Amino acid sequence: MSDCLFCRIVAGEIPADVVWESEHALAFRDINPQAPTHVQVIPRKHVPRIADFDAQADREWLSDLFEGATQVARQEGLGEGFRLVINNGAMAGQSVMHVHLHVLGGRPLGWPPG
Ligand code: AMP
Ligand code: ZN
Repeated sequence: MSDCLFCRIVAGEIPADVVWESEHALAFRDINPQAPTHVQVIPRKHVPRIADFDAQADREWLSDLFEGATQVARQEGLGEGFRLVINNGAMAGQSVMHVHLHVLGGRPLGWPPG
């Protein structure tokens, strides 16, 4: 998807601060961090929303997404606590239509989210 921002990061066409990668996924620092650690873990494959998840086709990258998130949490020293978020759809605040798992940590995180 040449017009997708995160596909362009996967392709190396747009620079990103990559902190972890695997065969099926990639993790890079958010450009507008909402916490001391704010990393996006994304599938290399273009999938617009987590609601589009296909149990047959998408198993591999789903596993990599959570491996990446927990590895980033370890690397960043987030043993005290961290949060994983996937926004789905405009009402939930999804602004980039390529699945991404937010890893947030390094400060107290309020609940419920706004
Ligand atoms: P969401 O609002 O859940 O769709 O999250 C999209 C996230 O992508 C936001 O936190 C943005 O700050 C982040 N973002 C947008 N463009 C870039 C970029 N070029 N590099 C890294 N993160 C980005
Ligand atoms: Zn994409």
